[in-house]
Amino acid sequence: MNVLVINCGSSSLKYQLLDMSNEEVLAKGLAERIGIDGSVLTHEAPGQDKVKFEQPMPSHKDALNILMAALVDPNHGVIKSLDEISAVGHRTVHGGEAFTDSVIIDADVINQLEVVSELAPLHNPANLIGIRACQELLPTVPMVAVFDTAFHQTMPAKAYMYPLPYELYEKYKIRKYGFHGTSHKFVSREAADLMGKKIEDLKLISCHLGNGASLCAVLNGKSVDTSMGLTPLAGLEMGTRCGDIDPAIIPFLANKGYAIDEIDNIMNKKSGVLGVSGVSSDFRDVESAANKGNQRAKLALDIYHYRVITTIGEYVAAMNGVDGIIFTAGLGENSSTSRQAICNGLKFLGIKLDPVANSKRGEATIISDKDSKTTVMVIPTNEELMIARDTLSLVK
Ligand code: ADP
Repeated sequence: MNVLVINCGSSSLKYQLLDMSNEEVLAKGLAERIGIDGSVLTHEAPGQDKVKFEQPMPSHKDALNILMAALVDPNHGVIKSLDEISAVGHRTVHGGEAFTDSVIIDADVINQLEVVSELAPLHNPANLIGIRACQELLPTVPMVAVFDTAFHQTMPAKAYMYPLPYELYEKYKIRKYGFHGTSHKFVSREAADLMGKKIEDLKLISCHLGNGASLCAVLNGKSVDTSMGLTPLAGLEMGTRCGDIDPAIIPFLANKGYAIDEIDNIMNKKSGVLGVSGVSSDFRDVESAANKGNQRAKLALDIYHYRVITTIGEYVAAMNGVDGIIFTAGLGENSSTSRQAICNGLKFLGIKLDPVANSKRGEATIISDKDSKTTVMVIPTNEELMIARDTLSLVK
């Protein structure tokens, strides 16, 4: 049974076709610059050369048409006909409170998604465009929506409610939702397997450290707290996002003459590691500048590590203990120096890293020493596979 996974952004579309009999990726690709000049779709299948389609793609439907033609192409295709696609899983950013798990998409789900779009105006409308375009092209194929927020719907009210007037929650649904849920769910399950334990018996902290970053406290397999909030701006320092700051900074800047849109842009695009270092939002550049003695680059990384350490401390308190800490995503999977710096701040958990294991890359590994009191792991995330698994289990 083949499942097509679609991740639609406002001007991009990522896809993977997976054979779920062995969870093998048959083909994957990315369409960029949809709706603007210079549209291009890059398609690749294991063992074959990458193919580039440089042609106008005014809409997501055009990109989908090209990718579907690529999938069945006699030369670089991987299936004979589109009938071999049994289901489509759509990555959907915000499910609000309406969706506590992945769902089969029907007219009712689409209506609810439109209502929730107010909470994620940059992401959900693009996801909906992708869903509608796919439905037009594959009208008989079942489609599933998999939400970034759903895994966190198990948080208790004391974790998700902001201490604002209660009517703001009632009127506008202002609360913590959290994101990266598909990733936190995937890596926490893989971590339990790696530890040889049942997830129901574990207290885990998942650290998704990419360009966007969030931590999640996973108690007995369920999210009980996470660092992102109503939006993905909250929590840790990120590549370009500030994470948690004193909210009074916003009216302070407004009184200095900054427009609200300008403040929003500063906090989302000009802050974080980029804003502090003045070097780059990419951790590789910032690490290399810090190694050459750039003090602001060093400060940006110190803040980054400090916030991960203190948030881990918070979640140890929230769960009254921790059995395992997971590092995942771009920085979490690749930067042994960042993992070391973070673990240096966690000696109170009896953590000892194994330097040889910590230098490995690309595979799920325990990187703590055998006599470490807490297990530390690197688990490569795979949101597409998680989406495909959820899709399969719902349409079966
Ligand atoms: P996202 O999906 O949020 O865009 P990723 O999970 O792909 O991000 O992470 C991308 C980030 O990972 C890059 O910005 C880069 O800073 C960081 N990264 C990737 N490889 C390394 C590395 N070897 N060392 C340090 N940081 C890395």
